[in-house]
Amino acid sequence: MSLVITPAVVLQTYRYSETSKVVRLATRELGIQSAIAKGVLRPKSRFGAALEFLSEGEAQLYYRDSRELHTLAAFDATNLRRGLAGDVARFAGAAALSQIMFKMGPPAPLPAAYIVFTSGLDLLVTAPAGAVDAAAVRAVWALVTELGFGPSLQACVRDGAPVAEEGGRIAFSAPDGGVLCARCAATQSPTRLPPEDYRVLVALNDTGADLPELDGPHAAAHRRLAARFVRHHLDAVSLSALDFWERSSWTRLQPTSAVL
Ligand SMILES: [Zn+2]
Repeated sequence: MSLVITPAVVLQTYRYSETSKVVRLATRELGIQSAIAKGVLRPKSRFGAALEFLSEGEAQLYYRDSRELHTLAAFDATNLRRGLAGDVARFAGAAALSQIMFKMGPPAPLPAAYIVFTSGLDLLVTAPAGAVDAAAVRAVWALVTELGFGPSLQACVRDGAPVAEEGGRIAFSAPDGGVLCARCAATQSPTRLPPEDYRVLVALNDTGADLPELDGPHAAAHRRLAARFVRHHLDAVSLSALDFWERSSWTRLQPTSAVL
């Protein structure tokens, strides 16, 4: 057993006993881990209120290689990201991002993915009100890419040939994981992205580009495309947070004519 001190974000908590909780953590040094926080539900617990969903802090973990459940000795909160809780769109995006991290992240060191994940959460805190959807979609694509499942957007995902443009539209296949050339597109029934939607998709995948402005229907379409892509790359049965974010269940969008 060894003591590991690592930055970590709380992805999930549930009650374990009268006084203890189990927390699922995204950690920088150990990847996705579960740990028991003993005594956290006692009135004067040393954890205080730090172990909340999306809180970031320095976790002290007694780590056993052979055990799935480790012991959380301390969690010193460094960033509670309370700005996420007050806005349902930001919160839904953060919850979807956390679910992807939880389901796709390995129980192994992931410093780069940890940074991309927490940068995505920060982007969701700071994005202007009109850009929250674009920020969430960008964060999702960036995390998926860092975890090694990113979409191929420049060349055919199957054979590397130039992308197909039929009537100006780009063939995109979520099951295959990216754009398709004309030959490959002919054997599939891919999504046909209008040029503007394709450009937006590329911009959303480019963390150096300005966040594109998306109206309601286009934001919904890009959430749908990203969610569908993630689902195809996970065998997970239930992705409740991703579903909630994708459907934007808290707004009332008009039926959309967007194409994705
Ligand atoms: Zn091809």
